[in-house]
Amino acid sequence: MNLSEHINTKTDRVLCPHCGGGALMLTQTGIIDMFEELRAYLNNKYDQPIALKINSGYRCFAYNEDLKRRGYPASRKSLHLKGVAFDIAPIGITPSTLVKDCQKLWKDKNILTGGLGLYAWGVHIDTGKHRTWDYRK
Ligand SMILES: [Zn+2]
Ligand SMILES: [Zn+2]
Repeated sequence: MNLSEHINTKTDRVLCPHCGGGALMLTQTGIIDMFEELRAYLNNKYDQPIALKINSGYRCFAYNEDLKRRGYPASRKSLHLKGVAFDIAPIGITPSTLVKDCQKLWKDKNILTGGLGLYAWGVHIDTGKHRTWDYRK
């Protein structure tokens, strides 16, 4: 899915893809800015365009529970429930390269917050407390 499928620019809300319900106002969620900055950084760095497929953005409680049942790593304390997290599958670079690029970008911009998780399918980013994890299996 593209970013445009996760936001409603008319109502200024992040959307749940399962029910279309909305979370926080975009202006309150730094996650869109974080995502756009990352995209600009990658476009600048690499010769070929790097597509960032958003596997999961905002999730309502029901959708989160549904994903959990299907084996997706969906915690009940997930920042996806607050609309401030994205799961991104990069096309053109590996997830571990994307994590390194995120770390470089955040360091360069002196961003001292945000979660960064590496999975086999891609990367989780959020605007919560700064922490990193590697859950590749
Ligand atoms: Zn929903
Ligand atoms: Zn996530």
